[in-house]
Parts: sequence; structure tokens; C-alpha cells
Amino acid sequence: MAETRSIESYVLDLCQYIDAWDYENMNNVYETLLKMRASFKEKHYLNYWRVLQCVGEVAADKLIYLVAKSPVASCKKHNISNLVTVMELFSESLSTVAFIKRVNHYKSDILPVVFTAIEQREYPELVRKGFVALYRMIIVGKTTLVTPYMKHGILRNIYQQIKCQQGVIRVDCVETVSYCAKLVAALLQLGDEETRRSILKSNIPNELDVYVVRLKKSKVNWEEVDDVLEFYDQAKMSFLLGSNSKPEDWNSKDKLIEELKQDLEVFIFCSSPPCRKIQADQEKFLYCGQCKLSRYCSPGCQKEHWKLGHKEMCLHGNGPKL
Ligand SMILES: [Zn+2]
Ligand SMILES: [Zn+2]
Repeated sequence: MAETRSIESYVLDLCQYIDAWDYENMNNVYETLLKMRASFKEKHYLNYWRVLQCVGEVAADKLIYLVAKSPVASCKKHNISNLVTVMELFSESLSTVAFIKRVNHYKSDILPVVFTAIEQREYPELVRKGFVALYRMIIVGKTTLVTPYMKHGILRNIYQQIKCQQGVIRVDCVETVSYCAKLVAALLQLGDEETRRSILKSNIPNELDVYVVRLKKSKVNWEEVDDVLEFYDQAKMSFLLGSNSKPEDWNSKDKLIEELKQDLEVFIFCSSPPCRKIQADQEKFLYCGQCKLSRYCSPGCQKEHWKLGHKEMCLHGNGPKL
């Protein structure tokens, strides 16, 4: 029975399937996890997020390897459908500065895959996950990601996304557009003059204007709408004020906290298996000093987890060999 399985057993299975490039079983486990996520029982619902956090901690390097190598590992026919699970696991793990730093170290391998995700049209959810990943990566990578993003055609992709969402206003699409607006605001703040000029020439500002007018007229009141409007305003201010806000003012940690807060479904748990307590508002968790990936509600939990095996699992160095 699904309910009796421990967080560790899901994580262990996923790790094994990742190591074996066994997409079929990876998908099977992930489908079970999605059922937990859809559960009305809080315990099951939260366990979905516990498993994902744990995967991000113990299998951070495996995930990076999986994303980077996924085009080589999959046949053409299944490449995109395999990417759905991979990107889901990956983008949910982009929730700590340490993990994102590790990912950015491999940007030349990771970015082609993320751009494949946003350029395909079969799975809108995959597009959204791709944009989430791009935004979270640039929060930490800052100016070092501007040129790679521009080279991969970020502006063309953002433009096309906003343009093709002009039809029906749907909640998942609004979220995608909100990430487009966030990315434009980030590129304006972090990019140089040439980047700014390219954005102005790209027609993105006009498309965003049109979209926002439609959105306001539609009178829908999802949380995501506020996101679009907030980042639309931020981008707008940067257009008007010129390079008033400087890349130096960009604080990765604060931006990531702000970003995760907007996502209603981000929970932080104590990493010690016997505890796995959820972080309450205002409560400060400790990070493992070495990997900075595992988090603890107390020094006691940290010590316990170290003894229980984190000592062997704790990641150090920069990441996997590709
Ligand atoms: Zn704890
Ligand atoms: Zn550690």
C-alpha cells in the first residue's frame, strides 16, 4: 500500500531508476507521487513535497546529470515525454541557493535541455516548468546567465509565449506569462545596455501591454494574476527609468525567498528522517554547513541525521562529472 511506504523508500527507488535511466519506472513512481499530491489527506499531500525535497538533497547531482544527459539518453520519439517527469523533479528542487549554484555550474549542458522544454508545444506544463527553472537559475546566476539566455533566444521564446496566450485566459497560462514577465524584469536589471535595447526592440513590451489589458478586462482573480501585474510593473519601471536599478542591488537569497513565497506549494521540512517536521512561519531552519542542501529544525536533528547516514550522503565539491 502506498500509504505505508516511507519517504526514504520512494527516494531510494527514484535514485535507482535515475541511475538506470529507467524512465518508465521513474514515471510510475512519479505518478504515485502525484496521487499523493492530489490527496485530500494533508499527510499524503505533504509527503509528496517531503519526497521531492529529499530527492533534491540526496540526489542533487543525479538530477543534474539526468537533465544534462537526457537528450542523449532518450530516443527522439520519447525525448519530450521523458522530459516531463525529469523537469518536474528538477524544477521543484530549484528551491535552495546551494542547489541552484550547483546547477548553474553546468549551465552549458543544462540550458539546451531547458530551452527544449520551453520550445516544444505538446506539453504546456513542461513550458511552464522550463520558465520556472530559467527564472530560478537567473536569480542565483545573475549576470552570468544573461548572455547564455540571449544566445539561446530567450526573447523570441518569451515573445511567442505571451503572444500565443492572448486567446483564452487560463490559470496555468497566466502563470507562464507571469514567469515571462519575471524574466523580462530580471534581464532588464541584470543585462547590459545592448540587452536592454534588444528587449525594447523585441515587441515584448507591446505584447505584455496587450496581455495585461486583456487580463484586467477578464476580471479573473487568481493569485497568478497579481504576479503578472507585479512583474509587469517592475519591467515597465525598468523600461521607463533606464538602468536605474543595478545588478549589484540584486540579492539572490532574498529574491529566492520572495519567489518561493509566491509559490503557494513550497514547503520546507526538517531533513532528519525521524522528524521531517514542516517549517512554520517565522521559524528559522539550520542548513548543513557542508552541502547547504539539508535543513534542520534543531541542532539535535542535524546531529541525528549525520549519524543516520547523512555523513556518507552529504554532497561536497561542485557536482557530478559529466
Ligand atoms: Zn527536526
Ligand atoms: Zn550535508
